[in-house]
Amino acid sequence: MSLSLARRYRPKTFQDLLGQDILKNTLMNAFEQKKVPQGIVLHGIRGIGKTTTARIIARVLNCMSQENKPCLTCASCLAMDEGKHLDVIEIDAASHTSVDSMRNIIDSVRYKAVQGSYKVFIIDEAHMLSKSAFNALLKTLEEPPSHVVFILATTDMHKIPATILSRCQKFELKPFDTKGITDHLVHVLKQEHISFDLVGVQTIARMAKGSMRDALSLCDQAIALGSFDEKTIKNMVGSQDALKILDLIRSMLSGQVSEVIALTHHMSMDASDPCQVIQDIMDIFYWMILYKHDASQVSDLLLSQEEQTVAKVMADELSLTIFLQLWPMLLKEYQNLKISPAPWEALTVLCLRICYLKNLIQGTPVDENEIFHFSSFDQLIVFLDRHKEAVLKNHLLRDVVVTKISDGHIELYPSPHLPPSFKDKLISTLSSLTHMNWIVEIKNTPEDVLNHPIVTILKEAFPQGIAWENLKPSI
Ligand SMILES: [Zn+2]
Repeated sequence: MSLSLARRYRPKTFQDLLGQDILKNTLMNAFEQKKVPQGIVLHGIRGIGKTTTARIIARVLNCMSQENKPCLTCASCLAMDEGKHLDVIEIDAASHTSVDSMRNIIDSVRYKAVQGSYKVFIIDEAHMLSKSAFNALLKTLEEPPSHVVFILATTDMHKIPATILSRCQKFELKPFDTKGITDHLVHVLKQEHISFDLVGVQTIARMAKGSMRDALSLCDQAIALGSFDEKTIKNMVGSQDALKILDLIRSMLSGQVSEVIALTHHMSMDASDPCQVIQDIMDIFYWMILYKHDASQVSDLLLSQEEQTVAKVMADELSLTIFLQLWPMLLKEYQNLKISPAPWEALTVLCLRICYLKNLIQGTPVDENEIFHFSSFDQLIVFLDRHKEAVLKNHLLRDVVVTKISDGHIELYPSPHLPPSFKDKLISTLSSLTHMNWIVEIKNTPEDVLNHPIVTILKEAFPQGIAWENLKPSI
């Protein structure tokens, strides 16, 4: 069986590596000045070339030509090609999370490199290491022998302890844009003497969502199927035509119930994945949210030019509020759909709910700037005032101290005058006016009282403490 395109066209030098200019320039300069960082973190989405980059670094460090560009012909470079270099140790942290695996590595750090100049440890999925494994690694990173370089590749940098990160040089690998992927695929297909359809290649580039490895692997599948036809490619990934998804969104948001049922039924006949449909809807919603907020921010990764034109017309007709309000519902239903015994029915019902909810949202005159900016007490008061909720407003002004407020959440301290029905009334009023779920947290336990803002102010004003017997009540 022939090697996959991703493996055959894997870059072996920084010069071959596409994009990632900051990383390339920084590291090439560092190597030229013989200032080799001993800890390197490569962060980026899957399939973006983290391991490939790590191997290029290892190749440069150990090439016998001593140039900053690997010669690709010396014994070290050839051993790298075969994955048999004695000084380049690759560890998949996902399957070696334990401290014992890390200890084995650390024990071998003491020994000099045998085949090249540096011992390079490439730790893939580094965020999967256990806490004790990280601690063991930290000890070595604190004072690494000069012949050792650690390269940590991760999709999840925030799971790597700050103590480790602070001892490493960090690089963010940028996803490829659709044009960059398309150009590379066209180059590869021409090299392979394979005829292709440019629209199909562009579709693959968009489906890969920034990952060159995914793009090349989709190309492998298209070659195996003998077709670069757009429809074939979308079927391969179980994705619907974006125009169909846009149709579905249009039907939902214009309340066309029978059309929604027909479209989802049609999609189910195509044997596509209902979870992928929600994912596609969310991708387009996100695209529209960005477009409505700042048209210059929309990515070309998702939609073709034709699809973008349709999406822009639709987004222009709708309010940003609708997308923002429907987003949490889609997210929740996406999770539910994964475990649903009848996923297509669940998807259809979700689309119908959106149909009716959209009508509900549309039926209420809503000021976009009003709903989603509850960051202060004053904004809440102005909002309730505008909606003529005088009783609630007065209770809020007179009978409570609001200590936290954000969209969907209020924390408050009650006075004894606050009626018990206040909480339910506030929740139901805010939920119905904003179409959001609200949590109202009333703080009234003895522990809560110690954290009351007034008690805090008193504690700060009288750090020595207060003799309570000297205080007289004002009434
Ligand atoms: Zn070499």
